[in-house]
Amino acid sequence: MSSKVVVGDLRKSYGNVPAAAGVSLDIEDGEIFGLIGPNGAGKTTIIECILGLRTPDSGTIHVCGIDARAHPREAREKTGAALQAVALQDKITPREALALFGAFYRIRSEPDVLLDRFGLRGKADTAFDTLSGGQKQRLALALAFVNQPELVFLDEPTSGLDPDIRRDLRGEILQMKRDGHTVLLTTHDIEEAEALCDRIAIIDRGKVI
Ligand code: ATP
Repeated sequence: MSSKVVVGDLRKSYGNVPAAAGVSLDIEDGEIFGLIGPNGAGKTTIIECILGLRTPDSGTIHVCGIDARAHPREAREKTGAALQAVALQDKITPREALALFGAFYRIRSEPDVLLDRFGLRGKADTAFDTLSGGQKQRLALALAFVNQPELVFLDEPTSGLDPDIRRDLRGEILQMKRDGHTVLLTTHDIEEAEALCDRIAIIDRGKVI
């Protein structure tokens, strides 16, 4: 099986806090891979380095066979991400947000397709600031899919949601895998990891333990 993400000896410190202290990961094509660990372990830092949103101090990162540090744009075309706390303009609607984000990519899905897929049809033209937490999270997942990514990053995709909505979103995440996407997610929740992940890495103080 081929690798979708290969990270080698990734290091990133904030001042004297080592958020990633020599992390190596190998994520295979078509799997759901979980990063598990306590608050402040370094999970978000690792994901943001892989996505090119943070500059590592050192280490290698390959995404879909592309050297992501040398060619971040090419790597980004292949990935989608739903990071913690979706922040959009108060008055933008899901339909508008999906059209706007789609405009940044050569390959993209139509807003209507994503609105249906993520159960947002009824809220398509509703202002973002009036959506519920679960609806915002659905929109975050839909936005992560706008460029039909090979690889999807989900940072705590179901945290803070009620059990019904969590179950629905977990169904969506399993569907991502069935549709052939590779998923890298973070969670604090062992039960969630067990329900979703093929493999996990436990992160503590910036290291895979
Ligand atoms: P959580 O589960 O709480 O989201 P996490 O595992 O995602 O945590 P990170 O957000 O990667 O952890 O944080 C790792 C460490 O780096 C923490 O000690 C955090 O305080 C520190 N850190 C993260 N971002 C910054 C920043 N921009 N400046 C300084 N320190 C930071």
